[in-house]
Amino acid sequence: MYNEPIYLDNHSTTKLDPRVLDAMMPFFTTHYGNSSSQHYFGYFASEAVSIARKKVASLLNANDNEIIFTSGATESNNLVLKGIVESYRSHGNHIVTSKIEHSSVIDVCKKLEQKGISVTYLSVDRDGNIDLDELKNSITEKTILVSIMFGNNEIGTIAPIKEIVNICHSSEILFHTDATQCAGNIKLDIKELGIDLLSFSAHKLHGPKGIGALYVKSTTPKILLSSQIDGGGHEKNIRSGTLNVPAIIGFGKAAEICKNEMQVNSEFVLRLRNKFEENMENVSGVTINGNKLSRLPNNTHLTIQNVKIKDLIRKVKGVVFSTHAACSSSDNSQSHVLNSIGMNKENIDSSARFGFCRMNTEEEVISATNIFTNAINELRNSNNIIITQKQNINN
Ligand code: PMP
Repeated sequence: MYNEPIYLDNHSTTKLDPRVLDAMMPFFTTHYGNSSSQHYFGYFASEAVSIARKKVASLLNANDNEIIFTSGATESNNLVLKGIVESYRSHGNHIVTSKIEHSSVIDVCKKLEQKGISVTYLSVDRDGNIDLDELKNSITEKTILVSIMFGNNEIGTIAPIKEIVNICHSSEILFHTDATQCAGNIKLDIKELGIDLLSFSAHKLHGPKGIGALYVKSTTPKILLSSQIDGGGHEKNIRSGTLNVPAIIGFGKAAEICKNEMQVNSEFVLRLRNKFEENMENVSGVTINGNKLSRLPNNTHLTIQNVKIKDLIRKVKGVVFSTHAACSSSDNSQSHVLNSIGMNKENIDSSARFGFCRMNTEEEVISATNIFTNAINELRNSNNIIITQKQNINN
């Protein structure tokens, strides 16, 4: 029988939880109404969307009227950056972000630069941490938005969000965070953190693809966000388009499961991740990247000296993992995240990302480490490379 490879690429996407599929199915078949229709089918769909919105909001400790459904975090990030710039252009033309943001932030910033917006890309240290003094110094009277990701999608480093929010708010500047890798994996309490705008996506938390959300804090005065998709104004006039009802129901169910099971799942995933790292660190010349103290519990990023990850991927058929973010791994360009943390080309080519989830098992982790250990030894032997002792990898 054909055995599916062990899936350790949960940062790129996650498997749909069967309970989520069960919740979605009736909305493809029986309850197929357009949630904007003024009749029985419409009311039924609309009521179900309201319940799902509450569940999605509840994952963040937000209010349901603060959730705007989008097609995913890429759209949420586009909506925030372009929408804030359009709404607040008369107040200023400067945005602050970091060099290790996802392409759906960086590419939008590059586009905005072509339109006359000035963007500061904060540098990061070897572990992917921004410098809070550099952030403070970058803020000018023209700054209208700071956008710093919550947890990095390659090396897993979690930013000190509360401190960043305080810095922004002391200068009365809006703060946005891309929390796509965090929502569902770690506790996010939007009220406690004071975040103004937050992007996330269902398919990273065992929900369906093609649905995400933007959290917009309800404040007085209101945060102004110019719409980027017009026509009908379905989502509070900020985002138009017939609601993807089955996907929203699935997002709601996935969020509800994550919230209810957060404690036990995050402890389990952390145990798997730590076991994996313990085993892999026993292999000579293997180093863990990212902030050791503040890192996503489901993330491991390794540099495996004297092994080209492309060779490892070719050799290891029983486990899937990735060289870097799925949004850019289709081309041959090197990871901008690893470049930004100052890794040299040789180590970038020897680095890989592993992502764990509640659906992985301890047996899978043990199998995966055995498979990797053998493959690494074989690749090194075939290149006559002997690493006798653990070597430090400085860059
Ligand atoms: N931000 C981050 C940090 C991500 O990891 C991703 C997905 N790779 C996105 C944004 C884009 O999310 P989506 O696939 O929902 O558009």
